[in-house]
Amino acid sequence: METNRKNGGISVDREHIFPIIKKWLYSEKDIFLREIVSNATDAITKLRRLESLGHREANDTEYKITVTLDESAKTLTVSDNGIGMTEEELTKYICNIALSGAVEFIQKYENENDGKNGIIGHFGLGFYSAFMVSDKVEVITKSYTDAPALRWICDESGEYEMESTDKAEQGTDVIMHISEEEKEYLSISKIRAMLEKYCAFMPENIYLVDASAEQKEGEEEKKPEPINDKNPLWQKQASDCKDEDYEEFYHKVFSDYRKPLFHIHINADYPLNFKGILYFPKLANEYETIEGQVKLFYNQVYVADNIKEVIPEYLLMLKGVLDCPELPLNVSRSYLQTNTYVSKVSAHIVKKVADKLCSLCANERDEYGKIWTDIGPFIKYACMRDKKFYDRTKKALLLELVNGGNKTFEEYLETAKEKHENTVYYATDMALQAQYISMFNAEGIEVALFEHPIDTQFATMLEGYMEGVKFVRVDSDVADALKGDGEVSENEDLKAVFSEVLSDKVTLKFDSLKDESVPAILNVSEQSRRMEDMMRMYNMKDTEGMTESTLVLNTASPLVKKLCDKAADDKETAKQAASYLYKLALLSQKKFTAEEMQSFMKDSVDILMKL
Ligand code: ADP
Repeated sequence: METNRKNGGISVDREHIFPIIKKWLYSEKDIFLREIVSNATDAITKLRRLESLGHREANDTEYKITVTLDESAKTLTVSDNGIGMTEEELTKYICNIALSGAVEFIQKYENENDGKNGIIGHFGLGFYSAFMVSDKVEVITKSYTDAPALRWICDESGEYEMESTDKAEQGTDVIMHISEEEKEYLSISKIRAMLEKYCAFMPENIYLVDASAEQKEGEEEKKPEPINDKNPLWQKQASDCKDEDYEEFYHKVFSDYRKPLFHIHINADYPLNFKGILYFPKLANEYETIEGQVKLFYNQVYVADNIKEVIPEYLLMLKGVLDCPELPLNVSRSYLQTNTYVSKVSAHIVKKVADKLCSLCANERDEYGKIWTDIGPFIKYACMRDKKFYDRTKKALLLELVNGGNKTFEEYLETAKEKHENTVYYATDMALQAQYISMFNAEGIEVALFEHPIDTQFATMLEGYMEGVKFVRVDSDVADALKGDGEVSENEDLKAVFSEVLSDKVTLKFDSLKDESVPAILNVSEQSRRMEDMMRMYNMKDTEGMTESTLVLNTASPLVKKLCDKAADDKETAKQAASYLYKLALLSQKKFTAEEMQSFMKDSVDILMKL
């Protein structure tokens, strides 16, 4: 066969470009395969387009990409039956990489590169990433036109040879002769893992062939299966997808067999033009890492995980996929940070998450109530980080109640109108505050449960946003609704007894409560308790004993009445009882210290001794 051999050199600046390709992409070498395979899918897409435009007759051959690893020949080949290239195209697209713009860019940003992704792809250098792992790269291509097939081979210095060759079907084979230092790319499991990571959703069938795997005798040849899913769920219309489809996709992509709590299918039109599915994962316990995984795609080609610029930090526990064809395939951090498109995408995602929460709350309240326990702390955190998110989700924020139910703030405040307008009563510990809770419940007042450390901080934030609304812990004050109509008279004898028993941090107060069975309760004002919590949070000095509290004696209680009589004629016994009563009140308000516990035990035994 007559070959008209041509020799040449990759034009201009090749001495500059080649070493940079090797150096810059060092940390992300694996992406070369993504670049070569996505060129192959593009070549098929182009051919399909020509067919649909009537420039080429459609036939029923399967368009596909085959990745063949031949360990003994030390080659990795990516073949497609796409559009192929003529000599002119090969020269134009492959031999002329050193676009002056790219060189300038490299010179300018050489020192700013963060070592990831680099610039390849920005300037049509994708093909050249093959040189990161190869001594030589060979291209055998036949254009879909009548033009003859070509073989092109180029070594790592950029010297190439081009000649005509034989190839029957249109398409291109890119044969990478893997260099000695990069022989890890001759492992089939490595190549499979790379394809699964970068090419799992590319839009044309991709097959992986291990040329050195011998077929065992008698073994039936299995029909090869593509390694990718050409029609990923996010490309479909939400109305065509079932809940099971979303779950199955989640299990497969994230290898997480727990059911996600909910999902959001985003299909943003022009001008944002991106698609995606986000999931709120079920987290096993608070020790599990809460960092989710959002995979970013560019037209079904995997780009990177967890791009913080695209998803705000407070939503990073989400898992999911985003396909943004408006972003260049290789993007640098600084590009993302200053890009207004990226910030619009991010704002759109925030809006979609908020809308989803509101619609779940409005339409699937029972289910939503159940998942609130899991998502609540994250949503509260997000509200604290971003006022806009709060504004969008405020209708979907739930208050969990001590009796197990839940209410939105609006619902709670509506019920509160009559007895405790604009006041939200809450408990932080069901066991410790049981006595107070039961007094509130007896009066039909709902008590919210703030068990998570974020809750009180969240309440402080809400007081700033919800005009007039106060959050009051059940042990802070005697709510008006708990007070009875009985006359309140202060007993001077009893006052004198208590003044000997109580420290100067405790104020004594008489009040008449509806619940006669409660002789005394201890109150710590909301404000001083929050101050104390804050000091503890900032690790300030031991605050024990500094808090001021009020001991409320219930004049309606028969025990208090009895104590009044005692105070008049047997001061010693009254003192002992007063001290004991104080400790009981203290016990139902907080956990005893070791010392308090010891003294309480001793008092109890002394009292029992009187039997
Ligand atoms: P990019 O894909 O970003 O344009 P590349 O360096 O990867 O840059 O490729 C340059 C050009 O070479 C492509 O735009 C395409 O025209 C051509 N090309 C590369 N690979 C193939 C292929 N497998 N089949 C047909 N044309 C190809």
